[in-house]
Amino acid sequence: MKAVVLAAPGQIEVRTLPDPAPARDQVVVRVHACGICGSDLQLVDGTLAGAAYPFVPGHELAGEVVAVGADVADLRVGDRVAADPSLPCGTCAPCRRGAVNLCRRFGVIGASVDGGFAEYVALPARNAYVLPEQVSYAAGALLEPFACVVHGFQRLAPPAGSAFLVVGAGAIGLMLLELALRTAPAEVVAVERHAERRAVAERLGARAHATVAEALATRPEGFDCVVDATGVPAAVEEAFDTVAPGGRLLLFGVARASDRVRLAPYRIYRDEITVLGSMSVGHAFAPALELVAGGAFELERLVTHTVGLEGFAEAVELLRRGEALKTHVIPSLVDGSGAASAR
Ligand SMILES: [Zn+2]
Ligand SMILES: [Zn+2]
Repeated sequence: MKAVVLAAPGQIEVRTLPDPAPARDQVVVRVHACGICGSDLQLVDGTLAGAAYPFVPGHELAGEVVAVGADVADLRVGDRVAADPSLPCGTCAPCRRGAVNLCRRFGVIGASVDGGFAEYVALPARNAYVLPEQVSYAAGALLEPFACVVHGFQRLAPPAGSAFLVVGAGAIGLMLLELALRTAPAEVVAVERHAERRAVAERLGARAHATVAEALATRPEGFDCVVDATGVPAAVEEAFDTVAPGGRLLLFGVARASDRVRLAPYRIYRDEITVLGSMSVGHAFAPALELVAGGAFELERLVTHTVGLEGFAEAVELLRRGEALKTHVIPSLVDGSGAASAR
């Protein structure tokens, strides 16, 4: 099979690898769509821990089961599935108390083992969720980031009537806005420097501003729930300064492990501000699938570009420049020129 391989940091190759065969507890999935995520940029750059170079990246995948291992009872060849890429060890202290996303030996399909930027991927059957008929492969490949958003939202637990601010309206920020608009918050605002992304946020029903200062000018008392969806230290510092007394700041964007920010401890004390983190999917994959299957979310609208495997390297640069919202790699697409085609 053909697959994208990160041979080493900064080294993207398309290689021919042996077709995977399923272990006893695994299925093999023919990949129909696999999304490129901000964290894939860090894997390309070598700044994210836990990657086992050389490996096949891709953790936002959906496809069709083409082989099942001897011990797999609940999946059949032909099933349409999406994958939760989480591989908790199951035996460390956080795993034992059910906090699988905090696993001390957390593995991820597409980082610690080969992932979905390939024609085929082998994965544990328990990681595969069958897609109802009405959920497309494109939506299926968006379930992983959406599940992360659902988990983050559960952590934030915005009280009814909150003013909600998302800094960064990329694919994740837009999903956060959409979830906020359909639940408790009374006011939903985005800060995003790219005009096209602001337009998407506005189409969803949010108010959008180019800078944090502009957003704060419309609401000097601050926002009850603020989410940083950039992972950029300067943006996190600005986001912190917009939190209203008694409010909450959720750090959703993936910063580099070496990054540091300057926050005023006096404000955390005086205004009882809560700073939260949100790591990965947790137990939110099934609830996310239920929300999408219910028809209230049309995640496919976030897919702005599709490429074949050969187009991966160029698509990574497109995402880096902020020109793509969500790019799906479709392994069956043959893009000889490597050009990402906009949808
Ligand atoms: Zn991701
Ligand atoms: Zn564990």
